[in-house]
Amino acid sequence: MMGDERKRGKPLVLVASPFQGHMTPMLQLGSVLHSKGFSITLAHTKLNSPDPSNHPEFVFLPLSDNFSAIDASANYTKFLEALNNNCKMQLQDHLTRKIEEGKDEMNHTITVIHDNIMYFAEEVASNLNLPSIVLRSCSASYMPAFLALPRLHAEGQLPVQDSILQELVPELHPLRYKDLPFNDTPTEVATEMLALAERVRTPSAIIWNTMEFLESSALTQLRQHYQVPIFAIGPLIKMARCPSTSFLEEDTGCISWLDKQAPRSVLYVSLGSLATMDETELAETAWGLAKSKQPFLWVVRPGSVSGSEWIEFLPEGFTEEVRGRGLVLKWAPQKQVLAHSAVGGFWSHCGWNSTLESISEGVPMICQPVMGDQCVNSRYLSYVWRVGLELENLEIKVVESAIRRLLVDEEGQELRQRAISMKEKAKYSLFKGGSSFNSLKDLVEFTLAD
Ligand code: UDP
Repeated sequence: MMGDERKRGKPLVLVASPFQGHMTPMLQLGSVLHSKGFSITLAHTKLNSPDPSNHPEFVFLPLSDNFSAIDASANYTKFLEALNNNCKMQLQDHLTRKIEEGKDEMNHTITVIHDNIMYFAEEVASNLNLPSIVLRSCSASYMPAFLALPRLHAEGQLPVQDSILQELVPELHPLRYKDLPFNDTPTEVATEMLALAERVRTPSAIIWNTMEFLESSALTQLRQHYQVPIFAIGPLIKMARCPSTSFLEEDTGCISWLDKQAPRSVLYVSLGSLATMDETELAETAWGLAKSKQPFLWVVRPGSVSGSEWIEFLPEGFTEEVRGRGLVLKWAPQKQVLAHSAVGGFWSHCGWNSTLESISEGVPMICQPVMGDQCVNSRYLSYVWRVGLELENLEIKVVESAIRRLLVDEEGQELRQRAISMKEKAKYSLFKGGSSFNSLKDLVEFTLAD
């Protein structure tokens, strides 16, 4: 039978997590697979649910999670455990009903594709004898470091002593101790987290939002480690025709402001959907931006500055100092911003979506990682791919200098050239015969084989 006939309507149940950086690639993947003829049900928590009107092509399955918000200060492993426990039976009941209703006329099996932190979906799939595939929304380069954590803990190398932060970690080139994820996490907490990560036991395959050319060495290691097919399909942002995937309202007014700025003159600043800062960090950022004398678009998420609702703690005199030159907003249409010709650089926390979005648009970066895989991504951006500058400290003078190096100096030009050539490579990987194009084809065949 021809592929197109076989795949028409084959049901996929995608299980998304309530984190912005995970939801976005899941929605993008759903759109890509829908365009290949699959029928998509998107199971999601009621907490941070996506807007169904943006995806009329999906069936939505809301799962009651009993949470009203993600509390960044709460115990992450306990939150995940409760989330998984609360959602499990609802998905199981839904899938059981679907199976009992009978297989559709094409005799298709349901395949479950789930976010790695929604590990209950894999348990449900396994209970019902359905194939399950995991979607990973972090970088592949992060995983060797993550997988080495138990060994490093057992050897007493973690939590890391300040004196060795700059040293290279044996067997994890090019990472330094400061780049290791969770390098300051106490052993007991790390043990809990690693045990949780092991809950994803036997996926039949893994989908990675990345590109072979960018992370070939990590992907090779991961293929050896997991012994299941790994489909490197990315950047999903460039493959999917998705309207907004944001939980927060995007302030699109900033685009007309960007239209009035000179080409490649503006620094876009955003630390993603989770990172927080204190009042001092806010002030150092603000004065660094002001002293650099460069135009900027700065996202300060409501509630991201400890003890305040939004920007009440901006230092006195800042607004007057930057009037006409800078814009502070609550949430940006980031994809459009990075694609805008006025944007010359991105000061980022190096979340994996932000990293891929910047690379896809050829925008060089200032890297200020905050947690988890961001430290690994920052090291790769600044040291391996050399499209970013590492921000050594959050101090006014350091910030001012990094911004000028990126937007004004020769060094920034070189980073931009490399970023532009990376953008081209990313584009080619999506063309017919390119690695992501081929991987998507392989995934479709793999899924249809069940
Ligand atoms: N984002 C956005 N507007 C903003 C800030 C972020 O649309 O003002 C989006 C961004 O495009 C990215 C996601 O939020 O897709 C953040 O994901 P990432 O993996 O970069 O970081 P996380 O939020 O998971 O730390």
